[in-house]
Amino acid sequence: MIDLKQLSIKKASEMLLKKEITAKALAEAYLAVIAVRNKNINAYLEVYDDVLAQAEAADKLIASGKGGPLTGIPLAIKDNILIKGRRASSASKILEHYKATYDATVITKLKAAGVVFLGRTNMDEFAMGGSTENSAYGVTKNPIDETRVSGGSSGGSAAVVAMDGALASLGSDTGGSVRQPASFCGVVGLKPTYGAISRHGLMAMGSSLDQIGPITKTVGDSELLFKAMVGKDSFDSTSGTYEMLAQKKTAGKKMVIGVPRAFMKQGGIDSAVLQNFDESIKKLQNLGMEIRDIDLPNIGYSLAVYYIIMPAEASTNLSRFDGVKYGLHKDGNNLLQDYQKTRGQGFGKEVRRRILLGAYVLSSGYYDAYYNKANVVRRLISDDFKKVFESGVDVVITPTTPAPAFIIGEKVNDPVQMYLADIFTVTANIAGIPALSVPSGTVATGGKELPLGLQFMATHGGEDILFSVGKLFLGE
Ligand code: GLN
Repeated sequence: MIDLKQLSIKKASEMLLKKEITAKALAEAYLAVIAVRNKNINAYLEVYDDVLAQAEAADKLIASGKGGPLTGIPLAIKDNILIKGRRASSASKILEHYKATYDATVITKLKAAGVVFLGRTNMDEFAMGGSTENSAYGVTKNPIDETRVSGGSSGGSAAVVAMDGALASLGSDTGGSVRQPASFCGVVGLKPTYGAISRHGLMAMGSSLDQIGPITKTVGDSELLFKAMVGKDSFDSTSGTYEMLAQKKTAGKKMVIGVPRAFMKQGGIDSAVLQNFDESIKKLQNLGMEIRDIDLPNIGYSLAVYYIIMPAEASTNLSRFDGVKYGLHKDGNNLLQDYQKTRGQGFGKEVRRRILLGAYVLSSGYYDAYYNKANVVRRLISDDFKKVFESGVDVVITPTTPAPAFIIGEKVNDPVQMYLADIFTVTANIAGIPALSVPSGTVATGGKELPLGLQFMATHGGEDILFSVGKLFLGE
């Protein structure tokens, strides 16, 4: 028996390349767990029927001496990332039967590396949400406490890693959708620098905010997947900016950790989270890092800015789902009615809410008051971070979320409460900087130990800094 609990991509790859295990046996071990747990957790929307054939192909690659660090590694993919010939629905009714006609660039890269794709994971519809409760196919329960959400929008991708239903997974992060579920499920989540990883083949939500990111058990695995996917892509004109950025070298330097204290003092943050955050700071200090209080004067506006820019972009991106080009089509008496019926029935409540919000902030009467102003403040927030990093701070830290995983149904009828859960994560997307969430301990609640997360943010292209601090923090 392969001990999945103790396994990382690194360890599994060593065993595969030394032929101590086969990719087929590894895939079978994951399929066995999925068979037991997925019914209840609902993390996979589909488990592929050719997993073992993929694994056999990986075994052949290894036997031929051409195996690499990801050959035979079983991964799960969020339902908004395209794999040619396979279904991709963004957990929406409007794309229920849609089959991808091409591979996302990240998939092309991972296929070439010999990865085994286990299946597609549940999510909030079109990545809008923080609990996977907005999926048209039911909520994903948290494997640690099944009365609670797994987070979102990449809730399925975080839950499969936490329940040992995949060695790692891919999610997408527009305002925290990789980091927040990773934090709720006790695993590692990375939101890369904007432009580091191609968005080609990722269904667009907020195009100036979206990034694909890995969810893993270790920081080392996050680094491995990141490096396998990073790079310029001619299909995504915003990609590749990463390579132009000077990589800051930190080896041998005393790391400076910035703490935005004032931001922590605002209301709505769980006392257990604040306590855990203080413990994390002590831990970093004991590891020899310098802790410095910093000021990010405009960070308090992040959530407001995010909830203007994101719906504006989302409403524009989702206009392509008109019942003609893709997926669902409902007949009305004329073309307008076709649109109304298709979109009214195909999109869920939260998606419709955001389309309306987005159309409103972009409308000629309100464009200057909302959308333009949000873009001005977005620049101010980015400049705040720039100043902090230029002053010698290597990493800014915050908790990943203001509270641990909440109970299913608790916030579902109160969208503003749900949006407040994104308070710490949206800033990195607004500024385009990379951010990593790592498990920072647990808080005992209702007889369960609920995971908490610590978020590290670095300057553009500073993933290596995040990986080295993250590894030190977790003792990897
Ligand atoms: N929870 C945030 C939202 O609802 C983030 C979503 C995301 O990153 N895709 O918009």
